[in-house]
Amino acid sequence: MAMADPSRTPMTDGLGRRISYLRISVTDRCDLRCRYCMSERMQFLPKNQVLTLEEIALLADMFVARGISKIRLTGGEPLVRRDIGDLVRRIGRHLGRGLDELTLTTNGTRLVDHAAMLADAGVRRINVSLDSRDPDRFAHVTRGGRIDQVLDGLAAAKEAGLAVKINMVALRGVNDDEILSMLRWCDDQGFDLSLIETMPLGDTGEDRTDHYLPLTQVAAQIDAHHPLTPTAYRTGGPSRYHAVEGMRVKLGLITPLTRNFCADCNRIRMTCEGKIFMCLGHEDHVDFKAALREGGLPAVEPLVDRALRLKPAAHDFRIAAGESAATRRHMSVTGG
Ligand code: SAM
Ligand code: SF4
Repeated sequence: MAMADPSRTPMTDGLGRRISYLRISVTDRCDLRCRYCMSERMQFLPKNQVLTLEEIALLADMFVARGISKIRLTGGEPLVRRDIGDLVRRIGRHLGRGLDELTLTTNGTRLVDHAAMLADAGVRRINVSLDSRDPDRFAHVTRGGRIDQVLDGLAAAKEAGLAVKINMVALRGVNDDEILSMLRWCDDQGFDLSLIETMPLGDTGEDRTDHYLPLTQVAAQIDAHHPLTPTAYRTGGPSRYHAVEGMRVKLGLITPLTRNFCADCNRIRMTCEGKIFMCLGHEDHVDFKAALREGGLPAVEPLVDRALRLKPAAHDFRIAAGESAATRRHMSVTGG
């Protein structure tokens, strides 16, 4: 197993930002079709273009040896990938040996089957996406999802001792009337809550500007009921956390549009095809798959430095009526 080598210089990009957090999209496939994320007839990659679990594990080994200390598995829906448990257990072996945290973002539909496996492999916290607790609205947003599967999954996660943060994309005219009740419910359940601004990634067949909701506005509305205090609490990602008066829930705000957080970005992303993207909002990438298949890890190592140099200063997201998506890639390809 690759061990972090303390004599190695930590990975830093061309602007001096320390890169310590890798998000891996293990599949572009998903059992839901959330309206802000994918189109209804999303075309998925042919399987032979997708990295095998062994290839993903080898690249994860290399990144941990290069100084990555946090890995998030995501997708698409990571828990629809067959034998995902093998990969989680394999990467989990690095915990305490260079890797400080292994975590996962999931839509929760298959957590009933996987929560115990995740906990056994050393996962301690997961993010579960839930944009509405109303069954019909949930089915509408996800184009057919069943909320009972997610609620059962959340119960299984609790049972397995996993800490849960709910991710909720704030959508004007869709779930904005539910944000306060979601916050109170998360508090009751012992979950944290992150609200996310919808980002212009990939064509979904719908106009995102119709539902874009700036979180500055939402935070002011919550504050009027439950005063918010910014805190220094961080989990290594883009969420900026607030304490909520009278509650134990921590409220995270992910604000790519209204409050840019690129200056202290510590993240890189690997797609299920083995492309390394240094920013969710740019097309520049380095392709590891061909190098790995032709020359193994020694052929990939020099590409890491090329990727680091490509990291841009900031994303270029704008949401305005009539503007096309900032990138043609969907969030499910690069990994949320
Ligand atoms: N399928 C898993 C899930 O839904 O949690 C993991 C992948 S999903 C792409 C990761 C996160 O990205 C989810 O919380 C989802 O709500 C969010 N997301 C997807 N498309 C987005 C967009 N265009 N803007 C903002 N958030 C988005
Ligand atoms: Fe699937 Fe997650 Fe995208 Fe929804 S947000 S369609 S669950 S990948």
